[in-house]
Amino acid sequence: MKVFKFGGASVKDAEGIRNVANLLQAVGFQNTCMIVSAMGKTTNALEEVVKHYFEKEDYVKKINEVEKHHIDIAIELFADAADVSNEISQFFNDLTSFLRRNKSPNRSYVYDQVVCCGELISTKILSMYLNSIGIVNEWLDVRDYIKTDDTYRESKVDWKLTEENISKLPQVGFYITQGFIGSDPNYFTTTLGREGSDYSAAIFAYCTNAESMTIWKDVPGVLNADPRYFEETELLEHISYEEAIELAYYGASVIHPKTLQPLQQKEIPFFVKSFINPLEPGTAVKKGQPLIPKVPCFILKKEQHLVRLSSKDFSFITEDKLSGIFTKLYNRQIKVNLMQNSAISLSMCLEDKYNHLELFLQDVETEFKVQLDRDVLLYTIRHFDVSSDTIISKDQELLRQTVRETLQIVVKN
Ligand code: ADP
Ligand code: ASP
Ligand code: MG
Repeated sequence: MKVFKFGGASVKDAEGIRNVANLLQAVGFQNTCMIVSAMGKTTNALEEVVKHYFEKEDYVKKINEVEKHHIDIAIELFADAADVSNEISQFFNDLTSFLRRNKSPNRSYVYDQVVCCGELISTKILSMYLNSIGIVNEWLDVRDYIKTDDTYRESKVDWKLTEENISKLPQVGFYITQGFIGSDPNYFTTTLGREGSDYSAAIFAYCTNAESMTIWKDVPGVLNADPRYFEETELLEHISYEEAIELAYYGASVIHPKTLQPLQQKEIPFFVKSFINPLEPGTAVKKGQPLIPKVPCFILKKEQHLVRLSSKDFSFITEDKLSGIFTKLYNRQIKVNLMQNSAISLSMCLEDKYNHLELFLQDVETEFKVQLDRDVLLYTIRHFDVSSDTIISKDQELLRQTVRETLQIVVKN
């Protein structure tokens, strides 16, 4: 079995879907399980639906916009789009009824029941389109396969049940299913965290003992920097699992960080390739040399906050105090991307996905003096050399740290 993953960019419109069909004809699709994300920015649009719903604004209008967008794509794809349009409308009617009837105040639960629609509908359209042009496939509801706990928005996979379910899938055929979503023990929909479809593909690869996994992207492969922010990038032809997990962890968003661990465990060869030039080799992630070619790799993380806590009475920041600070960060779901301590202070570069920073600062301000630089940038340079940091202007620099081959610099935005 091979596993393919197509992200939002590859299926963002009718042309994208036709391109996926051509790609499949070119590279083959026998005994393949294909994991697909929501089209384009649909997940963001569905997040807006949830926001409008909880803020008692017109969420139905938002749903209608998402529905129209999908129906327009279907009309472009199918000579007779009546069936698929009905299916799409039915789907969004169900979503509207769910929200109308819902009594749960649990925002994360509601979020998962709403945003899953992006993947369910994109896979429906793609599967029906491919079948209509003779690329015969079977659509699977991934919630029958990937089982998770009920930590909505960040669900943890129940590997035992998931493996049991996926191993029942015949290893011959061509399947299309959703990335990003799963279901909890009560069969409510769960999600694996934003951008989680790469991870879903890795789960399938692991559980089917796949011969390989390929994620199809709008870039030629893994580059030594994100081409949106850096000029003159270079393609990495080969990287080891260890290097890939480090790059992803530091924020190279071309691969979701959770993707590597299941693949590494079974040493499943993993490719990152271009859906625009599918016959190009792209990047191979497998055992062996850390990095070919060996060049510095640049990663930029935006929307970081630099917090410096220092003791009010000139006392040391001892381990018990550190432990208290980290418990509070954990409880507020704030991620620490870098830290540096001195006798009486602790500096941390924080990522605040859930907007809990103010609450955390309130938690600590009785005990510590707080200094805050909001909205800073964190640069990470792997395998840096003497000239690597020239991209960063010295007077913007707030903090610098080097650990072996990794240099990290926090700068003002
Ligand atoms: P999808 O969701 O469609 O699977 P993503 O948008 O998540 O794809 O990932 C592709 C994007 O990742 C590229 O368009 C690029 O801007 C960004 N990116 C970040 N870091 C890198 C990198 N090191 N190499 C290549 N692309 C990168
Ligand atoms: N559609 C989801 C998102 O945009 C999952 C993914 O694309 O990987 O976050
Ligand atoms: Mg994505």
